[in-house]
Amino acid sequence: MYKLAVFGNPIEHSLSPDIHAQFAQQTGVEVDYQKILAPVNDFSQFATAFIHKGASGFNVTVPFKLDAFNFATELTLNAKTAGAVNTIKIQGSKIIGENTDGIGLVNDLTNHLNIELENKVVLILGAGGATQGILLPILSKNPKRVMIANRTASKAEKLARDFAKYGKTCGFGLDKIKDDPVDIIINATSASLAGKMPDIASGCANHAICYDLMYGQQTPFMDWAKANNAAVIADGLGMLVEQAASSFEFWTGATPDTRTVIKNLRS
Ligand code: NDP
Repeated sequence: MYKLAVFGNPIEHSLSPDIHAQFAQQTGVEVDYQKILAPVNDFSQFATAFIHKGASGFNVTVPFKLDAFNFATELTLNAKTAGAVNTIKIQGSKIIGENTDGIGLVNDLTNHLNIELENKVVLILGAGGATQGILLPILSKNPKRVMIANRTASKAEKLARDFAKYGKTCGFGLDKIKDDPVDIIINATSASLAGKMPDIASGCANHAICYDLMYGQQTPFMDWAKANNAAVIADGLGMLVEQAASSFEFWTGATPDTRTVIKNLRS
């Protein structure tokens, strides 16, 4: 039996226990996966107590991704470059930190939306934690260019510099987005959470694939994409399920069928 959980604060909204229960049923792996409200100021002690109860690992969500990063005794390359951890695996005395968010996005694009990143021009809106997590997995698929545009231009410029060793990147302010066509636009800002659209010039969504990391509702970004004649419009539910599948595989070695789970969640 794998004893697992997701820690968050708040956590009530989390779909992860449902997703992992479906993975467990499909694969026949015995899993006990709970959602746990963790105290914001006492992550390390709380996580240690959970490990002492025989945990095999856990996920973390907002606001604990940096706490988990600092808590891990070893980090995968994904976690290191992301500067954040969403998955912890206990292996003997090792506490291994991984970040499956970016893998989740790339797997959703390639496996469910049939979108290859190779040789594509990608525009990422936002330069926060989510962008930092998706950059390496995207760049490892050899896109032609990855542009990062952020409200605070300096953060986008910094991320572009930090990731330049993994591929062609550039960073600038949202106001510098041109009308030139791009292949894929990823909204990795948290504007959708507030029901807002990042303030950008229209035009570049024409015939583009537009992907909002947010899930669960139609967002202003998705409306903007539609109004600007986007070729494909998607939300982040597939990413959520794929990042969970990647964590499940990291813990158990079993590969779940994500298509069925996405279908179940949508219905
Ligand atoms: P952060 O708080 O780290 O970063 C927020 C980013 O959004 C910053 O770049 C910020 O710009 C920008 N931003 C916020 N409000 C606006 C606005 N009104 N207009 C333009 N830009 C804005 O958040 P995260 O990176 O952690 O999360 C971003 C999103 O990704 C969230 O919606 C989250 O739910 C989603 N997500 C989805 C996942 C999935 O599995 N589907 C996984 C992980 C994240 P500035 O720097 O100028 O403040």
